[in-house]
Order: sequence, then structure tokens, then C-alpha cells
Amino acid sequence: MLRENLQEVEQRIADACRRAGRKREEVTLIAVSKTKPAEMLKEAYDLGVRVFGENKVQELTEKYDLLPDDIRWHMIGHLQTNKVKYLIGKTELIHSVDSLKLAKVIEKESEKKECITDILVEVNVAEEESKFGLKMEEVIPFIENAAQFPHINVRGLMTIAPFVENPEKNRTIFADLHKLYVDIKEKNIDNGTVNILSMGMTNDFEVAIEEGATMVRIGTGIFGARNYNI
Ligand SMILES: *Cc1c(COP(=O)(O)O)cnc(C)c1O
Repeated sequence: MLRENLQEVEQRIADACRRAGRKREEVTLIAVSKTKPAEMLKEAYDLGVRVFGENKVQELTEKYDLLPDDIRWHMIGHLQTNKVKYLIGKTELIHSVDSLKLAKVIEKESEKKECITDILVEVNVAEEESKFGLKMEEVIPFIENAAQFPHINVRGLMTIAPFVENPEKNRTIFADLHKLYVDIKEKNIDNGTVNILSMGMTNDFEVAIEEGATMVRIGTGIFGARNYNI
């Protein structure tokens, strides 16, 4: 099942890139493995997957200990400040930074571990009550502030679009975030390291790619439906 799912997702990414006149290498696939057992991740690993996304620190660090060293772990879920210390040094990218308070703690823990942590700013483009993330207009001031932290690299923006039956409904959200991303790149606020736009999930990743996503986060489409009751 995993092999077929991966092939299908890969094909759909390639097709969306072609439609958008983009190169396949411009889009990184994050295999979102939250709630799935380590054996299933190993199966995906054996099929060539090297980038996994998790949304809980404890689950990420447990899998980190069990699975091969060359996996690149991405933290995509809401991050509490008291968990940051367990994560730093184990993650290639934190997609979900949504406050200066959190950025300060990431800075402090990264300094302690003598590393630089790459982060994305989570943006709540649709301003949904139920979601984390900065408002669009808060993003540039946030990045200007975060640029002062020597152990943090702001690499770009991330959004979780609303759940919709028809992914076309999210197109303007992705287009709006892409526009902000281009503005930030042009402003060169954080020394020109901004080159990641993380948007698009199982239900809407093709539209996100057409609108400029450089990372798509796909769970269900690869690993199947999640069961939260186990
Ligand atoms: C769970 C999750 C995904 C993947 O969702 P699917 O719809 O299963 O592809 C992507 N991004 C974030 C932040 C998530 O929490």
C-alpha cells in the first residue's frame, strides 16, 4: 500500500509542477508520519523517504531514537516552550513558530546546544479561531525581531489552510501567502536565507504547488487515515 501511495503522490506532485512550469526539485515532500508506528516509517524509509514530519515533540524524539540517523525530522505541530529543549538538535526545521516568546526559547536552547535552528513562521492566513499562527500583517515585524537572534534562521513561511471539500477554495490563501513570501525575500530582512514556503496537505497540495509551495506536508495520502483512538 505504502509503495503505491508514494508513487501516486509523487506522480501528482510531478504533474502539479509541470502544470505550474516548475521543476520537480523545487518542491520537497514531507511525509507526515504522526500517530503512525515506527515500523511503518521504516517501511517508507526503505522506499526512499528521508524527510518525516511529526507534530508532537515526544513522538518525534522517540522515533528519532528508533530510526536511522540520516532521517531529517521536521516539527510541524504547535510547540510549547517547555518542550523546546527536547527538540533542539534533533530537527532540521521547525515549521510552527507562532510567537516571539517561542522564538526566544528556541534561541536560548540553540545557544546552549551550540547550534543554529532553522524555523518557519506559521501564518493563520484565513484567521481561523481554531488555528495557531500570526496574522499576515504581523509577519514582517516578527521576522525583523527574530533577525536579532543569532541562533535562529528564519527560512520562510508555513500555513495550514482551512479544511475544504474543494481545494480550489484555498487557492487565494496560498496565493496571498506566496505574495507575502516574495515580499519578504525582496526585503532581505534575514540575510537572504528565506527560501521555504510550506503549504499544502493531502487535500490541497496540488493547488499549493501551483501557487508556489516549496514544501508540501502529506500524511493521509501516504500513510492512510489516522486513528487517534489507539
Ligand atoms: C497532520 C498534518 C499534516 C498532514 O495532513 P494530511 O491531511 O494527513 O496530509 C500537514 N501539516 C500539519 C501541520 C499537520 O498537522
